[in-house]
Amino acid sequence: MNTIHQTPGPDAAASDPSADTLGTSAAQARNAVLEELVLKEPGQFRVLTGDRPTGRLHLGHYFGTLHNRVRLQDLGVELFVIIADYQVLTDRDVADNLTGHVEELVLDHLAIGVDPARSTIFTHSAVPALNQLMLPFLSLVSVAELNRNPTVKDEIAHSRQSAVSGLMFTYPVHQAADILFCKANLVPVGQDQLPHLELTRTIARRFNDRYGNGSAVFPQPDALLSNAPLLLGTDGTKMSKSRGNAITLAADADETARLIKGAKTDSERHITYDPATRPEVSSLLLLAALCLDRTPQQVAADIDSAGAAALKRTVTEAVNEYLAPMRARRTEYAQDRTFLRRTLREGNERARATADATLTEVRAAMNSHY
Ligand code: ATP
Ligand code: MG
Repeated sequence: MNTIHQTPGPDAAASDPSADTLGTSAAQARNAVLEELVLKEPGQFRVLTGDRPTGRLHLGHYFGTLHNRVRLQDLGVELFVIIADYQVLTDRDVADNLTGHVEELVLDHLAIGVDPARSTIFTHSAVPALNQLMLPFLSLVSVAELNRNPTVKDEIAHSRQSAVSGLMFTYPVHQAADILFCKANLVPVGQDQLPHLELTRTIARRFNDRYGNGSAVFPQPDALLSNAPLLLGTDGTKMSKSRGNAITLAADADETARLIKGAKTDSERHITYDPATRPEVSSLLLLAALCLDRTPQQVAADIDSAGAAALKRTVTEAVNEYLAPMRARRTEYAQDRTFLRRTLREGNERARATADATLTEVRAAMNSHY
């Protein structure tokens, strides 16, 4: 991976005093630069991104990150998709139906257009050398830094466990290992991941400073945000697999209609796009706009004073039409379990070879090559 260059860092933007706690404005400012670099030299980028196998992927995933994954792959960027199975255990005692959820994630990716001949889909539990990176990485961060992470705090608030596990606190470090084992330099994610990306950059920088002997063992990866970095669910909070508020890619048209019908809105009949004061209505408008390739303001103007019921009808039609081809492909792939399992087996093999090479390099840098 020596051919992958380090893109100019976002540190100037990250130190912007007006940036919010998650770093969204800095990441958005950086996006345009990254998009230009990707278009010019896609071969200089490697993407790692992924999801927890806690359920089927939903529209928040799709417009937050999945759409970018396929777009980058099709531009010629090398893509690694991680199924983060150990991380299921951050907020629950046991991972229910793990094999089923893992297969569903593979299916979702195939349905949206991830091509296993060009891209690597893998589970991190099957890649021992990746997980071993977590030990030196843990030594590079302080407990105070882990304690400050706003996303971890939010997830603890929504956790199913009465006590917070060590894995919950340290999983952003595990994520640094997920990203850096393949020396990814671009990570298309939703807004909640920005603090984790910042920590990954810190770990890469500290590792290089401490062990690099003047050269960079790891790149400092950039987050790539979409224009829907935080899509809300039917209850008006972040759409999330674990919160029962999601519209999944795999849902059928009737279920989609039912879920959108039950979505939270407000009592104002005149429909306007105003994310700050009308977050639920605005999120629905954004969803329709993304599916229709229009602006949320245009969708709002069309609905005008017809009220929430008309808004929901518009959203339902837009979503069902947009997802129809993906849903059809999903049904086809679901009939070929052998292909699904082969995709994962080959992905795991490729990821293992990459992780072994990186660990060899890390052990040499750390003088632990005996
Ligand atoms: P869980 O509730 O189990 O944590 P999740 O729905 O939050 O599930 P993850 O697997 O944690 O999904 O997230 C995978 C990726 O999808 C991350 O990059 C995350 O930022 C992005 N993502 C998840 N939910 C949304 C959302 N509502 N809007 C935009 N991006 C999202
Ligand atoms: Mg999550």
